[in-house]
Amino acid sequence: MKRIARLLATLLLVSCVKDAPPATRQAAGASAASLDVKWSNSSLNGVGIQISLGDSIVNDQFVGADNDGSGHNPVDQMTKLWNASNASLKFFQVPAPVVANRAYATIREYENDGQQGIYKSVNWFAEVDSRALAVTQYRGIRRNYGTSSEYIELTHADIIMNYRDYNFTTDENSVIAYDFHTVIIHELGHFIGLGHTRSTDDSVMRSSLSIFDADRTPSALDKQNLANNYGTAALAPGRSSFIAASVTAGPSQKKLPPSAIEDDQGVHGLIELRADGSCHHYVNGKLIESH
Ligand SMILES: [Zn+2]
Repeated sequence: MKRIARLLATLLLVSCVKDAPPATRQAAGASAASLDVKWSNSSLNGVGIQISLGDSIVNDQFVGADNDGSGHNPVDQMTKLWNASNASLKFFQVPAPVVANRAYATIREYENDGQQGIYKSVNWFAEVDSRALAVTQYRGIRRNYGTSSEYIELTHADIIMNYRDYNFTTDENSVIAYDFHTVIIHELGHFIGLGHTRSTDDSVMRSSLSIFDADRTPSALDKQNLANNYGTAALAPGRSSFIAASVTAGPSQKKLPPSAIEDDQGVHGLIELRADGSCHHYVNGKLIESH
C-alpha cells in the first residue's frame, strides 16, 4: 500500500521539478549565485552539535520497539544516519539528551533560550502557518560578506513539530499519520544546512512529502550535497569553488539567494514543511522559496 502510494507521490514531484527554474550555472570565480548555509567545520570535528530532545516526544510518541539494538530512539537513529553520511565530519552528538519539552508561545523564543532542540508543540504559533507539519528555525551570520565566497554560518537552530494539527507515527507502514522518522530526518537535513533537492531519487530532502512517504535514509545525492556544502568533496577538475561544483553536478540542492537577505547583521530563517507536501522558506521574515 505504501509502495503504491509512494509512486503517486513521485509522479507529483516530477511535475514540481518540471516547473522549477533551471539550475544556475556559473564559472568558477564568478560571484556566487547562491549561498551555502552551514555550521563551522570546527564545530563538527568533535562530538558534534548538541540537539536536545523534548521529553514529551519521547513519552508520547515512542514505544519500546522503536529503539534500535543500541537502545537509541528514532531521533538518535536519524542523527546517526546523518553522521554516517560524511567521513570527515560529525554533525550530531549521539544520543540526544532528553530534556523537559519547551513550549513557548512564539517561535522566536526558541531561538533565544540558548538550547537547541527538537520539541513538541500542541498549541502551535499564531505567526506560523497551520499547514506546517514541522519547522526548522535557524539563525546565522554572514561570513565573507559581499565576496564570491560568502556563506551563512549557522549559530543556532531548533526543530518544532506541530502536534496540534497533525499526527505522527513511527510505524513506517501506517498511512493514517505522517512518518515521524521521515519528517525528522528531513528537518535534521535543514538543521545542518541542506536545502531541497530537485531530484526524483530517494533523497530525504525532496521538497514534497505525503502521508504515504517513508524515506528514512539519506541518499547518495544527499551525501554528495552535504560534502559539497562543507567542502569535503573531491571537486571536479577545473572547478575551484564547491558552490560551482555543486551547481553543475546535476540535480543539486537549492541554496539561499543572497538577494533574499536585506541586512548584513544576521540571518533568521524559518523553513516550514507543510502537510500539502510543500515547503516554504522564509528569511528575515520574507518568503524566498516555496515549492
Ligand atoms: Zn523542507
